[in-house]
Parts: sequence; C-alpha cells; structure tokens
Amino acid sequence: MKYISTRGHAGQSEFCDILLGGLAPDGGLYLPVSYPRVERAELDAWRKLSYAGLAFEILSRFIGDIPAADLRGICERTYTADVYRHARAGDDPAQITPLHWLEPGGLGLLALSNGPTLAFKDMAMQLLGNLFEYVLEARGETINILGATSGDTGSAAEYAMRGKARVRVFMLSPHGKMSAFQRAQMYTLADANIFNIAVTGMFDEAQDIVKAVSGDASFKARHRIGAVNSINWARVAAQIVYYFKGYFAATAGNDEQVAFCVPSGNFGNICAGHIACRMGLPIARLILATNENDVLDEFFRTGVYRPRQAAETRVTSSPSMDISKASNFERFIYDLVGGDAEKLAGLWAEIEAGRAFDLSGTPYFARLPEFGFVSGCSAHADRLAAIRDVYARHGVTIDPHTADGMTVARCHAASLPAGVPLLVLETAQPAKFAAAIREALGHDPEIPTDLGALETLPQRVEVMAPDVEAIKAYIAART
Ligand SMILES: *Cc1c(COP(=O)(O)O)cnc(C)c1O
Repeated sequence: MKYISTRGHAGQSEFCDILLGGLAPDGGLYLPVSYPRVERAELDAWRKLSYAGLAFEILSRFIGDIPAADLRGICERTYTADVYRHARAGDDPAQITPLHWLEPGGLGLLALSNGPTLAFKDMAMQLLGNLFEYVLEARGETINILGATSGDTGSAAEYAMRGKARVRVFMLSPHGKMSAFQRAQMYTLADANIFNIAVTGMFDEAQDIVKAVSGDASFKARHRIGAVNSINWARVAAQIVYYFKGYFAATAGNDEQVAFCVPSGNFGNICAGHIACRMGLPIARLILATNENDVLDEFFRTGVYRPRQAAETRVTSSPSMDISKASNFERFIYDLVGGDAEKLAGLWAEIEAGRAFDLSGTPYFARLPEFGFVSGCSAHADRLAAIRDVYARHGVTIDPHTADGMTVARCHAASLPAGVPLLVLETAQPAKFAAAIREALGHDPEIPTDLGALETLPQRVEVMAPDVEAIKAYIAART
C-alpha cells in the first residue's frame, strides 16, 4: 500500500516512511491511495479472530513494508489482556475492547479505555510505541518526540514510549490545568526517557511552543524531533480495528448492520469508523457527537466548516473535545470531494486564510447520506443528565465524553433502521474526570484498584515559562 497527500503534491510513500513524520511536505495529510475492500468471505473468517489477530489482518492491508511475521508479532505484543486490563467488572479483558450492553442487542458501550491511561488513545498509541521501536531499531535511528497535551494524549504517548531505548518524550502540559489524576498519570512516571514540562500558561501556549520548535527546521533536524499527534496516519489505521471488533461483538452474522456513536474532537476516532465503512464494514450510521465546541456538528448539519478562533473555544467538562478546528477532518473532506486534491487544496486555502468554506448546495454535500454521517451536540447539563441516567438505569458510570456520545446517540436512535444495534464508543473511564462525576452523581468515580495509590506517588515535572528558547535549550541539553 502506498500513501499520497490530500493536497496532491507529495510523492507516493510507504507506511514506515510516513510513520515517523507528521504532515506531508505539501501541507496535506497522508492517506492510502485507495481503501482496501473487505469481501464477505474475509469478514466471515475475521469474525472468529482474537483482537490481535484481527489487528494483524486489517493493518497488513495498509502496511506493505513490514514483513508479515514481524507485524503479527507487533500486534500480539500490543493487544494483550495484561495491557488492556482495566475492564469493567463482568467484561472480559481478553476481548481488549469488550462490548458492554446496556440494553442487550440494542444499546451498548464499546469499551475502548481499558488500557494503561484509561482513554481510547491507548488503542493506537500502544501500537505506535511498538511500531516506532521496530522501525527505529531496523534503521539504527533515534527520535525525540515533542508534544503538547491538555490531558489524554500526553499520558497515552508516555505510557506507550516509556522505557523504549531509541525514543525520548518531551511533553508540555499547561501547569495546573489538568485533573489531579491526569497530572499523577504523567508526572509519576520515573522512566529516564520521559520528560514532563509544565508550562505556566494555557494549553494553546504549550501548543504554540511545539509549533515554533518544530518549525525551526535546523533544530528539528539536529535534535531529530518527531511527533505523535492526532494526524498521525498509524493512529487512525490502528483505530479501524475496533470498529470491526465492535461489529462482530454486536451482531450474529455479517448480513447485519450496526451504528456507532463517536464522541469527537479532532475527528481522528470517527475518521477510522468512516474508513471501516469504506472498506465494506456494514455500518448503517456513524453518529458524530460534539460538546459545546460544535464545529463538526455545524458542518454535518449545514455544510459550513468554520474553525473557531481561540477566544471562541469553550472550556468544558468534556475537555478532551475542546477543539477549535478538527485536524483530521481534511481526510474526510478529501473523500467527500471524490479524491479531487485540487478542490481540497482550494478549500483548505480558505481555512488557512482564517475563513470558512460552505459545501451546502453542492453535489458533495448531497453525498453525505451515502457516507452514513449524522451529528449532534451535547452541553454541560446534557452531559450530567446522561451520566445520571445511565447510572440510574443501568448502574454503570460513564465519563463526561462518553456521556456526550450517549446524549447524541439517544437523539438519533429512533431514526435507525429497526433491529440495528447502536454502540456508543467509550472514550475514557470516569476515574479520569472525578469532578464531573461528583457533580453529576454526588460521589467519586471508582478508581481501578491498581491505580488507587497513583496520586500519592512522588511526581517529577519541570515547571517552565512559555519561552521557546528556554524549552529548546532544555531539549538540547538532553538529546
Ligand atoms: C481525544 C479524545 C476524544 C476526541 O477524539 P478525536 O479522535 O480527537 O475525535 C474524545 N474523548 C476523549 C476522552 C479523548 O481523549
């Protein structure tokens, strides 16, 4: 499988060549030249596979430059019941992403957050850690990952890369802005290759520093700076697997359909669902849920894509979805405009000039039903109500992001074809967001027993001003 850029002006690349990079050289995002089609006979065979086996089958369709036996080994090391051990009581950790029915055969939670950091980002990041190790070893190279996090991405990256000989992680976080549990997750890591920097400022300032450092081409080359952000193709590819797994868990045969509701921010998770659908997985509907930052809901309702200004971006109680623009959305629009890279580049020229684009009234927007997308948004009060409702009816505590999914799923449930199960993707466990759970339920969320003492362990973090030169000096002294 070869990879091209959405903007049409980059040569074709192999998987391992785009694995360690970010944007394509023309500023676009990488996509495979075509999506592999999965035939009915393959679906029948895949239904019986373990998660690791399924991951190998799907990823091998996208990865042409890692020998099959090696890729299979990477999948088997990544997707183990020990790594994804934080399953709910009654769910089987060996399923990796167990399906937890709330209404059997009707409404279910697809548990994607049983990994080390209790958010779905582990699903892809753990694979990325093992792929990086493999490719760097083969090439005799090292990499220094620089990132900024508002919570879930940073810890997932650190837990995926900790102890890896050829990788160092420099992760900037906004000082004092994450939950106590999220801080403890990152700052208690004692591995020598993990460097936590708490920047005295907002997340955006941390993000700007990353952009400034990565934008200095000579520094970037000299210190082998890399990224693992949401646009990384391997992350999207890894996420395709659990849509298949969820489908198999929810249905008895491959003539059935399923619907997914996906709490969305940067459009990475649901982009994988869209690709699963293009590959031939029988998905009746992809329901996109946003919080108050409703950029994507606005597009799917009106055809207008209008990234927000920083000042318009709301701080919410589902903070991992607080985005002003959706960095993976370009991949979907590329497909919506039929792979017309010139058209796509024109639309993104508008976005990069700080404007919006409007596809309403175009043949592109008219194609949306063919792609199965619908959307909705959920605000603070909806989120709390959903947490209370699911707890009262089913005795299950859901996190505030999953609660946004639940709210929007319920709005669309009645419009699904009869008998189609609706799976809400559980993007984090409630333990990460205790304040919202306390507000909704009046008590603290349960913390997985092996993480109970996390907040009492010693923490290691460098507090620094949002000063690009100082942070460059910090990195330079350690690479
Ligand atoms: C990252 C994240 C999201 C948003 O996922 P995208 O891939 O950016 O759409 C939703 N919920 C949680 C808990 C997250 O960490």
